[in-house]
Amino acid sequence: MYAEAGMVPSSSRLREQWERVREALRGEFGEMAFRTWLRPLEVEGLDGDKLILAVPTQFMRDWIVSHYADRIRSLWSEVNPAVRSIALTVRPPRPRAGRPAPAPCTPATARTAAAAPAVDEPPLDELEELGARLDPRFTFESFVVGKPNEFAFAAAERVAMSDVPPFNPLFLYGGVGLGKTHLMHAIGWRIRQRSPHRRVIYLSAEKFMYQFVRALRAKETMQFKELFRSVDVLMVDDVQFISGKDSTQEEFFHTFNALIERGRQIVISADRSPADLSGLEERIRSRLSWGLVADIHPTTYELRLGILEAKAEQMGVAVPREVMEFLAAKITSNVRELEGALNRVVHASRFSGRPMTVAMCQEALQDLLRASERRITIDEIQRAVVEHYGLKLADMASARRSRSVARPRQVAMYLCKQLTTRSLPEIGRKFGGRDHTTVMHAIRTIERLRQEDPQIREDLEVLMRRLQG
Ligand code: ADP
Ligand code: MG
Repeated sequence: MYAEAGMVPSSSRLREQWERVREALRGEFGEMAFRTWLRPLEVEGLDGDKLILAVPTQFMRDWIVSHYADRIRSLWSEVNPAVRSIALTVRPPRPRAGRPAPAPCTPATARTAAAAPAVDEPPLDELEELGARLDPRFTFESFVVGKPNEFAFAAAERVAMSDVPPFNPLFLYGGVGLGKTHLMHAIGWRIRQRSPHRRVIYLSAEKFMYQFVRALRAKETMQFKELFRSVDVLMVDDVQFISGKDSTQEEFFHTFNALIERGRQIVISADRSPADLSGLEERIRSRLSWGLVADIHPTTYELRLGILEAKAEQMGVAVPREVMEFLAAKITSNVRELEGALNRVVHASRFSGRPMTVAMCQEALQDLLRASERRITIDEIQRAVVEHYGLKLADMASARRSRSVARPRQVAMYLCKQLTTRSLPEIGRKFGGRDHTTVMHAIRTIERLRQEDPQIREDLEVLMRRLQG
């Protein structure tokens, strides 16, 4: 199997391996991410056990390093065990022999400023194309308000009902499936209804990046900027995906500032607070919290029950009270799962003709219920780590800094971030009241070591398997 060790496989072998890795990546990350980030990569060669890939721009390099490099490396090691690490170098794409350069790079086909219509305001449909469609189900009317989300709801409604920004930006944050996207779409619908002339654009941070890269490649950055700066309301969803030091962050920031200076409304969402957005530069983070920061808390039993009632009514089905109570008590993770559970129960009942009962729910939702019972806690993680490294539980909270204790503690913090939904400050508290920046440092350290140190990698694999098994 290692017949090739020490010798450089021919480049065609590497390219063939890349084909296999690429197909796996396409399956895992989806077509859009694949086209934007992965397809432009080219195999440069192998340097010892380090595989070198070329990317067209620095910006893409940063993004790939922070999002895909780890996965590319492990897939490649599966295909070819001689590859143990990967490196990315920036090299602008070269024209393929015998063929003209790719179309977007030829000035003749790139859309130049002169060719674009000479108007200040781009047409609305062009803007809409840039954004994403609003989901007709996500309105204020269909949003169930309870203690955990009333503040965010009120803030969103306020933005939607004001002609000048009441606060800027509105920053919504909360865990997955708690209604951030729903509220943003609701703002969009309400504004379109109240003042159809206002230009509203909603898009995911990922799409923002994608548009930006596309504009860069087509040398259309000017149009890109103009287009974004012409909107009245800009909503960018899931900005935790804008991270890394790069030109998009810069562009995002400038667009953001330009719009705020012009009195346009900005709405941002993320899965964590501005302070916890570790991938963003400090000035951007602090700017994001200038307006109003509204968090959506995890659901309560009452809210879950209210949501189930509303959804059942929307679906036009009579769901027995005890079934709703059972679901509200058992499916606690987020609203998306709760909705999914209700849908499954309703369909199972329709399909089998059986009435909806608690017993029937238990059967139809077996896997979901098991998963929610097996939620991993910080305590469990600490116990597993302590056992694995032969330490005492007290070492997790102690101030000792010797590496034999400090490293396992960092591993434990890292696992807490990976396997639980606890925030950095919460994790810090469980480790002897450490600061969230200490936790962040630990996570970064382990992320790095995971790439560089096979021992740590193995420790993590063993521990993850044990905790998740
Ligand atoms: P997030 O963007 O925070 O991950 P979403 O906005 O996509 O979450 O919400 C997930 C699902 O749960 C959506 O179908 C949404 O309509 C629904 N949902 C979330 N919160 C509520 C709520 N308070 N009332 C009604 N539906 C909700
Ligand atoms: Mg969302």
